[in-house]
Amino acid sequence: MTNDILQRFDGLRAGSAGRRKSLDLAARRAALARLAQVIKSHRAEITAAVMEDLGKPEVEAELVEVLPVLAEIAHTRRHLRRWMRPRRVWPTLMMLGTQAALHPEPKGVVLVIAPWNFPFVLALSPVVTAIAAGNAVVVKPSEMAPATSALIARLLPMALPDLAEVVTGGPEVSQALLALPFDHIFFTGSTAVGKIVMTAAAQNLAPVTLELGGKSPVVLGADADIAQAAKWIAWGKVVNAGQICVAPDHVFVPDHLMELLTDALRTEWQRMAAAGTTAIVNERHYARLSGLLADASAKGAQVQPLGPDRPEMRQMAGRIVTATTADMAISTEEIFGPLLPLIPYRDLAEPIAAINAGPKPLTIYAFGGKDLVARLRAETSSGSLGINLTIMPFIHQNLPFGGIGHSGMGAAHGKAGFDTFSHLKPVMQNRLTALPLLFPPYTGRVKRLKNWVLRLMT
Ligand code: NAD
Repeated sequence: MTNDILQRFDGLRAGSAGRRKSLDLAARRAALARLAQVIKSHRAEITAAVMEDLGKPEVEAELVEVLPVLAEIAHTRRHLRRWMRPRRVWPTLMMLGTQAALHPEPKGVVLVIAPWNFPFVLALSPVVTAIAAGNAVVVKPSEMAPATSALIARLLPMALPDLAEVVTGGPEVSQALLALPFDHIFFTGSTAVGKIVMTAAAQNLAPVTLELGGKSPVVLGADADIAQAAKWIAWGKVVNAGQICVAPDHVFVPDHLMELLTDALRTEWQRMAAAGTTAIVNERHYARLSGLLADASAKGAQVQPLGPDRPEMRQMAGRIVTATTADMAISTEEIFGPLLPLIPYRDLAEPIAAINAGPKPLTIYAFGGKDLVARLRAETSSGSLGINLTIMPFIHQNLPFGGIGHSGMGAAHGKAGFDTFSHLKPVMQNRLTALPLLFPPYTGRVKRLKNWVLRLMT
């Protein structure tokens, strides 16, 4: 296995120099067009594989897996010419007589390690920007979504021969890959594994992008539109059964609005989940979520089920959880499922202090007016801040997406993704700089000139 991985890596590596020359704008756009074509012609198979792995409704499978990859390809092809252009850098006073620009150059061979929760799009979307930036890619999809992984392994070499290799398997395969000297590692997954990835990358000084998880809180303001907030929060928990890195994890609620929000959430949630939702990915995660509920109940939390469970299909109904305390696992672990703690507060300083006491979240969602937003923007730190919406910042192609601290580092999507997989090489040229006048030997003339420059510059 390791020999096979090594051979495939070496094959891509050997092509690096050639690719730097041959992968011009037209070749990159053509490669992306081929990828789009292969995806379009296998749309039904992709949808079926995702449905098999995640027990997802068909519409959702197409909407959240196939469509975003095709949209990313279309967006990238449209803007690639501009992204690839050298970026002019204006000279400072000292640099008069020179010309400089940043030239995006491919990093080389990059590794993409993907999670199971959106098994197609989270494996493919980084591939799009990596290829756009002129790299070759090795993809390691998640072993927890075996049907989608097998399909990616079949489709990608078909679409991108000589540019992409797919290696399937679990942590041991990941570790074998991480030992290789990749030119960039793009990892999406848990914070715990993110640390393992970064440690391994250090051995090769490989730069990393870590798209991690964590607890993304919602803060409801006293002036929030409750009906709208309930709709967006319920949506964030119903889609993919809340198994989304940017799903609302828990909600801070002004205490006098607890009942109103609970009622509105119940209505919206039940309406959206009526025709069935995505299943919990496997028995282990079903048991993990059940364990979070059991632990919370045993320690005095109130759990309100929003429908019946169907454990044989791993369909878990939503739960609104109240009266949680800090010693419950549901309060400290990323929930990653359809359970939603509501935490009452009296003064906005309380949720702000609670957020700042924990690791920096991937996203914070604010529902309310200007004052609430201004305070959260200024007094908390997170990968992104969403106002009167959920999930959407993750989908915006012109917004860099990424975390901070324990929720990750680096950025993905669109131009930010292109830049992640590029080295922005400073190229500087002498036009007629006067700097040689300051070269040694340091004669009286050089000293006088130096004093003049010092006065001018400071
Ligand atoms: P995970 O960290 O368990 O696995 C992710 C990938 O890492 C898989 O391909 C897996 O095979 C590999 N892996 C697992 N253990 C490993 C090890 N010891 N050494 C090397 N590789 C290993 O994550 P998951 O359960 O697949 O996904 C859920 C997590 O991902 C959640 O925390 C979620 O918030 C996060 N996530 C983040 C984003 C984002 O964009 N920020 C998106 C989706 C999911």
